[in-house]
Amino acid sequence: MKKLALHWKIIIGMVLGIIFGFILNAYEQQGFVRDWIAPFGTIFINLLKLIAVPLILASLIKGISDLKDISKIKSMGLRTILIYVGTTVVAIVIGLSIVNIVKPGAGMPQDTIEKIKLRYESDAGVTDKLVKASSQREAGPLQALVDIFPSNIFEAMGEAKMLQVIFFALFVGICLLLIGEKKAKPMIDIFDSLNEVVMKMVDLIMLFAPYAVFALLANVIIAFDDTEILLKLLQYALCVVGGLILMIGFYLILVKMLTGKSPLWFLNRISPAQLLAFSTSSSAATLPVTMERVEEHLGVDKEVSGFVLPVGATVNMDGTSLYQGIAAVFIMQVIWPEGLTFTNQLIIVGTALLASIGSAAVPSAGMVMLVIVLESIGFPAELLPIGLALIFAVDRPLDMCRTVVNVTGDATVSMIVAKSLDKLHEPKPKEWDDNYDAV
Ligand code: ASP
Repeated sequence: MKKLALHWKIIIGMVLGIIFGFILNAYEQQGFVRDWIAPFGTIFINLLKLIAVPLILASLIKGISDLKDISKIKSMGLRTILIYVGTTVVAIVIGLSIVNIVKPGAGMPQDTIEKIKLRYESDAGVTDKLVKASSQREAGPLQALVDIFPSNIFEAMGEAKMLQVIFFALFVGICLLLIGEKKAKPMIDIFDSLNEVVMKMVDLIMLFAPYAVFALLANVIIAFDDTEILLKLLQYALCVVGGLILMIGFYLILVKMLTGKSPLWFLNRISPAQLLAFSTSSSAATLPVTMERVEEHLGVDKEVSGFVLPVGATVNMDGTSLYQGIAAVFIMQVIWPEGLTFTNQLIIVGTALLASIGSAAVPSAGMVMLVIVLESIGFPAELLPIGLALIFAVDRPLDMCRTVVNVTGDATVSMIVAKSLDKLHEPKPKEWDDNYDAV
Protein backbone atom coordinates (compact mmCIF):
# COMPACT_ATOMS: atom_id res chain seq x y z
CA MET A 1 0.00 0.00 0.00
CA LYS A 2 1.31 3.43 -0.93
CA LYS A 3 1.82 5.89 1.87
CA LEU A 4 -0.53 8.82 2.27
CA ALA A 5 1.08 12.02 0.99
CA LEU A 6 1.68 14.84 3.42
CA HIS A 7 -0.94 17.10 1.86
CA TRP A 8 -3.65 14.46 2.40
CA LYS A 9 -2.66 14.08 6.03
CA ILE A 10 -2.86 17.85 6.44
CA ILE A 11 -6.25 18.00 4.70
CA ILE A 12 -7.61 15.29 7.02
CA GLY A 13 -6.29 17.25 10.02
CA MET A 14 -7.96 20.42 8.74
CA VAL A 15 -11.34 18.78 8.12
CA LEU A 16 -11.33 17.10 11.53
CA GLY A 17 -10.33 20.41 13.15
CA ILE A 18 -13.24 22.19 11.46
CA ILE A 19 -15.73 19.50 12.51
CA PHE A 20 -14.35 19.49 16.05
CA GLY A 21 -14.63 23.32 16.21
CA PHE A 22 -18.27 23.24 15.10
CA ILE A 23 -19.15 20.52 17.59
CA LEU A 24 -17.59 22.38 20.50
CA ASN A 25 -19.26 25.58 19.30
CA ALA A 26 -22.59 23.81 19.43
CA TYR A 27 -21.92 22.70 23.02
CA GLU A 28 -20.48 26.14 23.91
CA GLN A 29 -17.16 24.61 24.88
CA GLN A 30 -14.99 27.24 23.14
CA GLY A 31 -12.90 27.60 26.32
CA PHE A 32 -11.71 24.01 26.00
CA VAL A 33 -10.34 24.68 22.51
CA ARG A 34 -8.69 27.91 23.63
CA ASP A 35 -7.03 26.31 26.68
CA TRP A 36 -6.20 22.80 25.56
CA ILE A 37 -6.11 22.68 21.76
CA ALA A 38 -5.05 26.06 20.40
CA PRO A 39 -1.63 26.07 22.19
CA PHE A 40 -0.48 23.18 19.97
CA GLY A 41 -1.12 25.34 16.92
CA THR A 42 0.88 28.13 18.52
CA ILE A 43 3.79 25.77 19.25
CA PHE A 44 3.84 24.74 15.59
CA ILE A 45 3.84 28.34 14.34
CA ASN A 46 6.60 29.19 16.84
CA LEU A 47 8.73 26.34 15.53
CA LEU A 48 8.30 27.51 11.95
CA LYS A 49 9.17 31.08 12.89
CA LEU A 50 12.16 29.78 14.84
CA ILE A 51 13.80 28.37 11.74
CA ALA A 52 12.78 31.08 9.25
CA VAL A 53 15.71 33.42 9.96
CA PRO A 54 18.49 30.78 10.00
CA LEU A 55 16.98 29.34 6.83
CA ILE A 56 17.03 32.65 4.95
CA LEU A 57 20.58 33.36 6.10
CA ALA A 58 21.94 29.94 5.24
CA SER A 59 20.22 29.43 1.93
CA LEU A 60 20.82 32.92 0.62
CA ILE A 61 24.49 33.13 1.68
CA LYS A 62 25.19 29.68 0.25
CA GLY A 63 23.16 30.43 -2.88
CA ILE A 64 24.82 33.76 -3.64
CA SER A 65 28.29 32.42 -3.06
CA ASP A 66 27.51 29.62 -5.52
CA LEU A 67 26.57 32.12 -8.22
CA LYS A 68 30.23 32.93 -8.88
CA ASP A 69 29.23 36.07 -10.77
CA ILE A 70 27.93 39.25 -9.21
CA SER A 71 26.14 40.48 -12.35
CA LYS A 72 23.80 37.49 -12.07
CA ILE A 73 22.53 38.85 -8.76
CA LYS A 74 21.53 42.09 -10.44
CA SER A 75 19.63 40.36 -13.21
CA MET A 76 17.91 38.02 -10.75
CA GLY A 77 16.89 40.95 -8.53
CA LEU A 78 15.54 42.99 -11.43
CA ARG A 79 13.55 40.10 -12.92
CA THR A 80 12.09 39.19 -9.55
CA ILE A 81 10.89 42.69 -8.75
CA LEU A 82 9.46 43.24 -12.25
CA ILE A 83 7.51 39.97 -12.23
CA TYR A 84 6.31 40.62 -8.70
CA VAL A 85 4.96 44.04 -9.63
CA GLY A 86 3.42 42.63 -12.84
CA THR A 87 1.55 39.81 -11.09
CA THR A 88 0.32 42.17 -8.37
CA VAL A 89 -1.12 44.60 -10.93
CA VAL A 90 -2.88 41.66 -12.65
CA ALA A 91 -4.33 40.67 -9.26
CA ILE A 92 -5.70 44.14 -8.55
CA VAL A 93 -7.21 44.43 -12.03
CA ILE A 94 -8.91 41.03 -11.61
CA GLY A 95 -10.28 42.12 -8.23
CA LEU A 96 -11.57 45.48 -9.46
CA SER A 97 -13.17 43.91 -12.55
CA ILE A 98 -15.05 41.35 -10.47
CA VAL A 99 -16.33 43.81 -7.87
CA ASN A 100 -17.47 46.24 -10.56
CA ILE A 101 -19.31 43.56 -12.51
CA VAL A 102 -20.93 41.76 -9.57
CA LYS A 103 -21.49 44.86 -7.39
CA PRO A 104 -21.86 42.89 -4.13
CA GLY A 105 -22.35 46.08 -2.10
CA ALA A 106 -25.07 47.67 -4.20
CA GLY A 107 -28.49 47.61 -2.61
CA MET A 108 -27.46 46.14 0.72
CA PRO A 109 -30.51 46.49 3.00
CA GLN A 110 -30.27 49.37 5.47
CA ASP A 111 -31.13 47.19 8.45
CA THR A 112 -28.24 44.85 7.66
CA ILE A 113 -25.83 47.79 7.55
CA GLU A 114 -27.19 49.04 10.88
CA LYS A 115 -26.84 45.61 12.44
CA ILE A 116 -23.24 45.20 11.31
CA LYS A 117 -22.47 48.73 12.45
CA LEU A 118 -23.84 48.08 15.92
CA ARG A 119 -22.05 44.79 16.30
CA TYR A 120 -18.58 45.68 15.06
CA GLU A 121 -18.05 49.44 14.87
CA SER A 122 -16.66 49.70 18.37
CA ASP A 123 -15.25 46.15 18.35
CA ALA A 124 -11.69 45.88 19.70
CA GLY A 125 -10.61 44.19 16.44
CA VAL A 126 -11.74 47.12 14.30
CA THR A 127 -10.23 49.71 16.64
CA ASP A 128 -6.96 47.80 16.65
CA LYS A 129 -6.76 47.93 12.83
CA LEU A 130 -7.39 51.69 12.84
CA VAL A 131 -4.70 52.30 15.46
CA LYS A 132 -2.17 50.17 13.58
CA ALA A 133 -2.98 51.96 10.33
CA SER A 134 -2.40 55.35 11.90
CA SER A 135 1.08 54.34 13.09
CA GLN A 136 1.88 53.07 9.54
CA ARG A 137 0.73 56.37 8.08
CA GLU A 138 3.01 58.46 10.26
CA ALA A 139 6.20 57.06 8.70
CA GLY A 140 7.89 59.30 6.10
CA PRO A 141 7.87 58.39 2.38
CA LEU A 142 11.38 56.87 2.42
CA GLN A 143 10.94 54.98 5.68
CA ALA A 144 10.30 51.72 3.82
CA LEU A 145 13.71 52.09 2.14
CA VAL A 146 15.49 52.99 5.39
CA ASP A 147 13.92 49.93 7.01
CA ILE A 148 15.81 47.60 4.68
CA PHE A 149 19.17 48.51 6.22
CA PRO A 150 19.75 47.08 9.71
CA SER A 151 21.98 48.80 12.23
CA ASN A 152 22.22 45.68 14.32
CA ILE A 153 21.94 42.28 12.71
CA PHE A 154 21.05 40.54 15.95
CA GLU A 155 18.16 42.89 16.49
CA ALA A 156 17.05 42.33 12.89
CA MET A 157 17.19 38.56 13.39
CA GLY A 158 15.56 38.75 16.81
CA GLU A 159 12.63 40.71 15.46
CA ALA A 160 12.52 38.63 12.25
CA LYS A 161 12.79 41.69 10.03
CA MET A 162 12.92 39.73 6.81
CA LEU A 163 14.15 42.43 4.43
CA GLN A 164 16.97 43.37 6.82
CA VAL A 165 18.05 39.75 7.15
CA ILE A 166 17.94 39.37 3.36
CA PHE A 167 20.06 42.48 2.95
CA PHE A 168 22.63 41.16 5.42
CA ALA A 169 22.72 37.73 3.77
CA LEU A 170 23.17 39.29 0.33
CA PHE A 171 25.95 41.49 1.70
CA VAL A 172 27.77 38.52 3.23
CA GLY A 173 27.23 36.40 0.10
CA ILE A 174 28.62 39.09 -2.19
CA CYS A 175 31.66 39.62 0.06
CA LEU A 176 32.31 35.88 0.09
CA LEU A 177 32.41 36.04 -3.71
CA LEU A 178 34.80 38.98 -3.57
CA ILE A 179 37.34 37.48 -1.17
CA GLY A 180 37.93 34.47 -3.39
CA GLU A 181 37.24 30.79 -3.09
CA LYS A 182 40.07 29.80 -0.79
CA LYS A 183 39.24 32.24 1.99
CA ALA A 184 35.48 31.91 1.57
CA LYS A 185 35.32 28.12 1.69
CA PRO A 186 35.20 27.53 5.47
CA MET A 187 32.32 29.94 5.90
CA ILE A 188 30.42 28.65 2.87
CA ASP A 189 30.77 25.11 4.23
CA ILE A 190 29.27 26.20 7.54
CA PHE A 191 26.26 27.80 5.86
CA ASP A 192 25.86 24.85 3.53
CA SER A 193 25.69 22.52 6.48
CA LEU A 194 23.40 24.89 8.42
CA ASN A 195 21.09 24.91 5.41
CA GLU A 196 20.90 21.12 5.43
CA VAL A 197 20.18 21.09 9.16
CA VAL A 198 17.36 23.63 8.84
CA MET A 199 15.85 21.75 5.90
CA LYS A 200 15.85 18.63 8.03
CA MET A 201 14.17 20.62 10.80
CA VAL A 202 11.41 21.64 8.38
CA ASP A 203 10.85 17.97 7.62
CA LEU A 204 10.61 17.04 11.28
CA ILE A 205 8.33 19.96 12.11
CA MET A 206 6.09 18.99 9.21
CA LEU A 207 5.50 15.58 10.80
CA PHE A 208 3.55 17.54 13.37
CA ALA A 209 1.65 19.59 10.73
CA PRO A 210 -1.52 17.44 10.44
CA TYR A 211 -2.09 17.73 14.22
CA ALA A 212 -1.19 21.41 14.30
CA VAL A 213 -3.67 22.34 11.55
CA PHE A 214 -6.34 20.48 13.52
CA ALA A 215 -5.63 22.83 16.45
CA LEU A 216 -5.36 25.94 14.28
CA LEU A 217 -8.63 25.36 12.44
CA ALA A 218 -10.60 24.32 15.52
CA ASN A 219 -9.48 27.62 17.03
CA VAL A 220 -10.58 29.59 13.97
CA ILE A 221 -14.01 27.94 13.89
CA ILE A 222 -14.85 28.75 17.51
CA ALA A 223 -14.58 32.44 16.65
CA PHE A 224 -17.40 32.25 14.05
CA ASP A 225 -20.48 32.72 16.09
CA ASP A 226 -22.63 34.97 13.96
CA THR A 227 -23.65 32.98 10.91
CA GLU A 228 -26.42 35.41 9.98
CA ILE A 229 -24.03 38.28 9.29
CA LEU A 230 -21.67 35.88 7.57
CA LEU A 231 -24.44 34.92 5.15
CA LYS A 232 -25.26 38.54 4.43
CA LEU A 233 -21.67 39.11 3.42
CA LEU A 234 -21.53 35.98 1.33
CA GLN A 235 -21.69 37.77 -2.02
CA TYR A 236 -18.71 39.96 -1.13
CA ALA A 237 -16.78 36.97 0.21
CA LEU A 238 -17.53 34.97 -2.93
CA CYS A 239 -16.19 37.80 -5.09
CA VAL A 240 -12.90 37.71 -3.18
CA VAL A 241 -12.67 33.92 -3.28
CA GLY A 242 -13.63 33.87 -6.99
CA GLY A 243 -10.91 36.42 -7.74
CA LEU A 244 -8.36 34.42 -5.77
CA ILE A 245 -9.25 31.25 -7.69
CA LEU A 246 -8.80 33.12 -10.98
CA MET A 247 -5.42 34.28 -9.74
CA ILE A 248 -4.34 30.71 -8.99
CA GLY A 249 -5.50 29.81 -12.53
CA PHE A 250 -3.32 32.64 -13.85
CA TYR A 251 -0.28 31.24 -11.98
CA LEU A 252 -0.91 27.77 -13.36
CA ILE A 253 -0.99 29.16 -16.90
CA LEU A 254 2.26 31.00 -16.22
CA VAL A 255 3.88 27.86 -14.83
CA LYS A 256 2.82 25.85 -17.88
CA MET A 257 3.77 28.48 -20.43
CA LEU A 258 6.99 29.75 -18.93
CA THR A 259 8.48 26.67 -17.30
CA GLY A 260 6.80 23.84 -19.24
CA LYS A 261 5.74 22.06 -16.03
CA SER A 262 2.24 20.69 -15.71
CA PRO A 263 -0.13 22.58 -13.38
CA LEU A 264 -1.02 19.37 -11.52
CA TRP A 265 2.62 18.54 -10.93
CA PHE A 266 3.12 22.03 -9.54
CA LEU A 267 0.04 21.95 -7.32
CA ASN A 268 0.81 18.50 -6.00
CA ARG A 269 4.24 19.54 -4.88
CA ILE A 270 3.48 22.97 -3.49
CA SER A 271 0.21 22.01 -1.76
CA PRO A 272 1.60 21.41 1.76
CA ALA A 273 2.79 25.03 1.76
CA GLN A 274 -0.61 26.21 0.49
CA LEU A 275 -2.43 24.26 3.18
CA LEU A 276 -0.23 25.74 5.87
CA ALA A 277 -0.73 29.22 4.47
CA PHE A 278 -4.47 28.59 4.78
CA SER A 279 -4.19 27.27 8.33
CA THR A 280 -1.82 29.91 9.68
CA SER A 281 -2.90 33.01 7.67
CA SER A 282 0.74 34.01 7.62
CA SER A 283 3.15 33.93 4.66
CA ALA A 284 6.02 34.53 7.08
CA ALA A 285 5.22 31.48 9.21
CA THR A 286 4.78 29.41 6.06
CA LEU A 287 8.08 30.55 4.54
CA PRO A 288 10.30 27.67 5.74
CA VAL A 289 7.88 25.15 4.24
CA THR A 290 7.54 27.15 1.02
CA MET A 291 11.32 27.15 0.70
CA GLU A 292 11.61 23.45 1.37
CA ARG A 293 8.88 22.60 -1.17
CA VAL A 294 10.26 24.91 -3.84
CA GLU A 295 13.87 23.77 -3.49
CA GLU A 296 13.38 20.09 -2.95
CA HIS A 297 10.12 19.34 -4.71
CA LEU A 298 9.97 21.88 -7.53
CA GLY A 299 13.70 21.88 -8.32
CA VAL A 300 14.47 25.58 -7.94
CA ASP A 301 18.13 26.29 -7.15
CA LYS A 302 18.94 27.70 -3.70
CA GLU A 303 20.40 30.92 -5.01
CA VAL A 304 17.06 31.73 -6.63
CA SER A 305 14.69 30.47 -3.93
CA GLY A 306 16.87 31.93 -1.15
CA PHE A 307 16.32 35.37 -2.61
CA VAL A 308 12.97 35.25 -4.40
CA LEU A 309 10.93 33.56 -1.65
CA PRO A 310 11.86 35.63 1.42
CA VAL A 311 11.58 38.83 -0.62
CA GLY A 312 8.25 37.59 -1.98
CA ALA A 313 6.87 36.67 1.44
CA THR A 314 7.49 40.25 2.48
CA VAL A 315 6.62 42.30 -0.60
CA ASN A 316 4.66 40.15 -3.06
CA MET A 317 1.10 39.74 -1.86
CA ASP A 318 -1.15 39.28 -4.85
CA GLY A 319 -3.96 37.79 -2.80
CA THR A 320 -3.83 40.71 -0.40
CA SER A 321 -3.86 43.35 -3.15
CA LEU A 322 -6.75 41.62 -4.95
CA TYR A 323 -8.68 41.58 -1.69
CA GLN A 324 -7.88 45.22 -0.99
CA GLY A 325 -9.24 46.25 -4.39
CA ILE A 326 -12.48 44.33 -3.87
CA ALA A 327 -12.92 45.35 -0.24
CA ALA A 328 -12.33 49.05 -0.95
CA VAL A 329 -14.89 49.14 -3.76
CA PHE A 330 -17.37 46.99 -1.81
CA ILE A 331 -17.23 49.37 1.14
CA MET A 332 -17.76 52.31 -1.20
CA GLN A 333 -20.72 50.59 -2.87
CA VAL A 334 -22.35 50.22 0.53
CA ILE A 335 -21.60 53.46 2.34
CA TRP A 336 -19.90 55.95 0.02
CA PRO A 337 -21.22 55.42 -3.52
CA GLU A 338 -20.32 58.96 -4.58
CA GLY A 339 -16.63 57.99 -4.25
CA LEU A 340 -16.93 55.33 -6.95
CA THR A 341 -15.25 57.22 -9.78
CA PHE A 342 -12.92 55.85 -12.43
CA THR A 343 -10.07 58.04 -11.14
CA ASN A 344 -10.50 56.66 -7.64
CA GLN A 345 -10.33 53.12 -8.95
CA LEU A 346 -7.12 53.97 -10.81
CA ILE A 347 -5.69 55.36 -7.58
CA ILE A 348 -6.68 52.10 -5.89
CA VAL A 349 -4.52 50.17 -8.39
CA GLY A 350 -1.48 52.20 -7.32
CA THR A 351 -2.15 52.29 -3.60
CA ALA A 352 -3.19 48.63 -3.33
CA LEU A 353 0.11 47.76 -5.05
CA LEU A 354 2.06 49.80 -2.50
CA ALA A 355 -0.15 48.67 0.38
CA SER A 356 0.39 45.00 -0.40
CA ILE A 357 4.14 45.61 -0.54
CA GLY A 358 3.90 47.33 2.83
CA SER A 359 1.64 44.71 4.44
CA ALA A 360 3.43 42.50 6.94
CA ALA A 361 3.23 38.76 6.24
CA VAL A 362 1.11 38.12 9.32
CA PRO A 363 -2.60 37.52 9.95
CA SER A 364 -4.93 40.41 9.04
CA ALA A 365 -2.13 42.79 7.97
CA GLY A 366 -3.97 43.29 4.68
CA MET A 367 -6.93 44.81 6.51
CA VAL A 368 -4.72 47.34 8.29
CA MET A 369 -3.29 48.48 4.97
CA LEU A 370 -6.79 48.66 3.49
CA VAL A 371 -7.29 51.71 5.69
CA ILE A 372 -4.41 53.42 3.88
CA VAL A 373 -5.92 52.46 0.49
CA LEU A 374 -9.25 53.98 1.50
CA GLU A 375 -7.63 57.14 2.80
CA SER A 376 -5.73 57.61 -0.46
CA ILE A 377 -9.02 58.17 -2.29
CA GLY A 378 -10.32 60.62 0.27
CA PHE A 379 -12.66 58.19 2.03
CA PRO A 380 -14.36 60.17 4.83
CA ALA A 381 -12.55 59.51 8.12
CA GLU A 382 -15.78 59.27 10.11
CA LEU A 383 -16.97 56.40 7.89
CA LEU A 384 -13.75 54.38 8.30
CA PRO A 385 -14.82 52.41 11.40
CA ILE A 386 -18.12 51.52 9.70
CA GLY A 387 -16.25 50.48 6.55
CA LEU A 388 -14.01 48.12 8.48
CA ALA A 389 -16.92 46.89 10.59
CA LEU A 390 -18.68 45.90 7.36
CA ILE A 391 -16.03 43.42 6.27
CA PHE A 392 -14.66 42.45 9.67
CA ALA A 393 -16.84 39.40 10.27
CA VAL A 394 -15.57 37.57 7.20
CA ASP A 395 -12.02 38.82 7.24
CA ARG A 396 -10.39 35.83 8.88
CA PRO A 397 -11.58 33.23 6.33
CA LEU A 398 -10.67 35.61 3.50
CA ASP A 399 -7.26 36.18 5.09
CA MET A 400 -6.71 32.42 5.06
CA CYS A 401 -7.58 32.27 1.35
CA ARG A 402 -5.54 35.31 0.31
CA THR A 403 -2.48 33.99 2.14
CA VAL A 404 -2.68 30.82 -0.03
CA VAL A 405 -2.51 33.03 -3.11
CA ASN A 406 0.35 35.09 -1.66
CA VAL A 407 2.41 31.94 -1.10
CA THR A 408 1.49 30.37 -4.45
CA GLY A 409 2.48 33.59 -6.21
CA ASP A 410 5.92 33.54 -4.61
CA ALA A 411 6.46 29.90 -5.57
CA THR A 412 5.34 30.58 -9.15
CA VAL A 413 7.68 33.54 -9.56
CA SER A 414 10.59 31.59 -8.09
CA MET A 415 10.06 28.93 -10.78
CA ILE A 416 9.82 31.49 -13.56
CA VAL A 417 12.96 33.33 -12.43
CA ALA A 418 14.82 30.03 -11.98
CA LYS A 419 13.82 28.86 -15.45
CA SER A 420 14.91 32.12 -17.06
CA LEU A 421 18.33 31.85 -15.39
CA ASP A 422 18.67 28.16 -16.20
CA LYS A 423 18.43 27.31 -12.50
CA LEU A 424 15.41 25.02 -12.63
CA HIS A 425 16.37 21.35 -12.29
CA GLU A 426 14.66 18.01 -11.98
CA PRO A 427 14.08 17.85 -8.21
CA LYS A 428 16.15 15.25 -6.44
CA PRO A 429 14.63 13.76 -3.29
CA LYS A 430 16.80 13.62 -0.19
CA GLU A 431 17.40 10.12 0.99
CA TRP A 432 15.64 10.92 4.27
CA ASP A 433 12.56 12.46 2.66
CA ASP A 434 10.06 9.65 2.95
CA ASN A 435 7.11 11.78 1.90
CA TYR A 436 8.56 12.20 -1.52
CA ASP A 437 6.88 9.39 -3.45
CA ALA A 438 3.69 9.24 -1.50
CA VAL A 439 0.45 10.01 -3.32
N1 ASP B 1 -2.09 37.23 6.05
C1 ASP B 1 -1.52 37.67 4.82
C2 ASP B 1 -0.15 37.04 4.64
O1 ASP B 1 0.51 36.72 5.60
C3 ASP B 1 -1.43 39.16 4.73
C4 ASP B 1 -2.82 39.73 4.70
O2 ASP B 1 -3.38 39.85 3.60
O3 ASP B 1 -3.39 40.02 5.74
O4 ASP B 1 0.28 36.84 3.52
